Amino acid sequence: PFDVLVVGGGPAGASAAIYAARKGIRTGIVADRFGGQILDTAAIENFISVNRTEGPKLAASLEEHVKEYDIDIMNLQTAKRLEKKDLIEIELENGAVLKSKTVILSTGARWRNIGVPGEAEFRNKGVAYCPHCDGPLFEGKDVAVVGGGNSGIEAAIDLAGIASHVTVLEFASELKADAVLQERLNSLPNAKVLTNVQTKEITGTDKVNGVTYTDRDSGEEHHIELDGIFIQIGLVPNTDWLGDSIERNRFGEIVVDKKGTTNVPGVFAAGDCSDSPYKQIIISMGSGATASLSAFDYLVRSKVE
Ligand code: FAD
Repeated sequence: PFDVLVVGGGPAGASAAIYAARKGIRTGIVADRFGGQILDTAAIENFISVNRTEGPKLAASLEEHVKEYDIDIMNLQTAKRLEKKDLIEIELENGAVLKSKTVILSTGARWRNIGVPGEAEFRNKGVAYCPHCDGPLFEGKDVAVVGGGNSGIEAAIDLAGIASHVTVLEFASELKADAVLQERLNSLPNAKVLTNVQTKEITGTDKVNGVTYTDRDSGEEHHIELDGIFIQIGLVPNTDWLGDSIERNRFGEIVVDKKGTTNVPGVFAAGDCSDSPYKQIIISMGSGATASLSAFDYLVRSKVE
């Protein structure tokens, strides 16, 4: 069996695997797509100490670093079941069952799409999902935020400090965000909220130049010109496959303590699949390291042979 089996090959998983292998213990990593979300990222400017890089380039560096160590890499493999027996078993889609003394879950998350024309086409060309990542690209420009929940309104407040103007588009007749956030947004001179509107299409040529929406009361169609649109309708953790085997919160995120420990002894979690706040590359890597050191500590203290 493995001493540490990491499930997920994004920034969190790569970091966890490297920290484990550096202890000289048997380490494996299973990933259905090594690299994770950064494979879909264009510019990365907030990975501290690297002024600017691109997602696929960072993913290649991650893989190169993991390959420096004696780590069993199982790429293009999807985990479908976790079961705690004496050892922890991870069953893969291909039917194989991997056994390990400890498991680190780092299966990440995905942004929910609105699924309108232009969204996929202009991804990274004006369509963005992460205000902490891409906000500064829109300095002095006009942007919109789709979604009036907490993350949407937080994004709008954040963007109002950078962009020239922010329009929030909310499908429901009122915002769902906390009152304090709504008040804060309403106090800003360069932000406007449209409720009861349906986003129809993101328009552009080589990059975004506007958004078309319908007023759900009148059925009238409107178009606003802008340079960027942030989709904030939810981040979904890739944790469905875990079912009831691990405690998850109402968003599906794996519940961890500050050492990355889950409710199942020997199972740890890190990165965007966990309930840690703020989903970022640097944070995922840090939590991967934390979970890995906790797994090592668990191995040292436990009697699992
Ligand atoms: P992920 O990167 O999601 O990796 C999850 C891994 O688990 C993948 O290898 C996946 O294939 C694997 N996996 C999932 N399910 C299974 C399964 N059942 N079995 C096996 N493997 C599985 N952050 C920044 O800090 N700066 C940025 O500029 C930035 N820009 C972004 C731009 C975009 C378009 C997106 C989508 C995200 C961006 N982020 C950015 C966020 C950042 O990418 C994530 O916070 C980070 O990748 C999370 O790392 P992770 O390892 O937790 O998960």
